Amino acid sequence: MEPFIRNDQYNFIKYQTQVLIHGHASVNDTGVLNALKSLSAEKVLSLFAELSEEQNQLLSTVSDIKERDHADAFLAHIKDYVIPFPSITEQSIKKMFPKAKKLKMPALEDIDFREISYLGWDDKGTNRKYMISLLDGKLTGIYGTFKPLSKKGICAICNKFEETGMFLTETKGTQLGTYTKKGNYICHDSRKCNENLNSLEQLHDFIGRLRG
Ligand SMILES: [Zn+2]
Repeated sequence: MEPFIRNDQYNFIKYQTQVLIHGHASVNDTGVLNALKSLSAEKVLSLFAELSEEQNQLLSTVSDIKERDHADAFLAHIKDYVIPFPSITEQSIKKMFPKAKKLKMPALEDIDFREISYLGWDDKGTNRKYMISLLDGKLTGIYGTFKPLSKKGICAICNKFEETGMFLTETKGTQLGTYTKKGNYICHDSRKCNENLNSLEQLHDFIGRLRG
């Protein structure tokens, strides 16, 4: 079986395993538990527009999960079928940011490409954050300044309550020599943000809105 699960879908499935573990620990009624089990399987299967018989069988077993060990084994097994983020080199990164002076490279060797929906990294020297994501099938990069906030807030990409900061990009205005700044609050830690993501909608909106 070829990989067919995206990182955000994997995260969603992981969340459903937590719902099931919690359900088994707190509910005694068999009817209620059965409803919970079928609802979880339904939610997981509905993430995918099309599934082969084999893929369907693999994912349907989510409803059998009762406890942590079982969930961990299930998640480790389906991780083999997670589609990695497209492979990327320093050369291709340079091409994506032609205007960025003093471009800092991410530590590519430290990244598990099955665990990201976007590649995000920081340059503390210039207070910049860089992001690369697939937008309409094409790798798209944006960068901007990043200013951490002193308290937690809601991230515009993963929608979770996290340590955030203001990400701002500068794009050319309609009149010559003018610039417009656009931005929003997003997770400080891009790795954590990728772990939180369980849908791509807000990520795509964000990148689409802020690219030059
Ligand atoms: Zn986030």
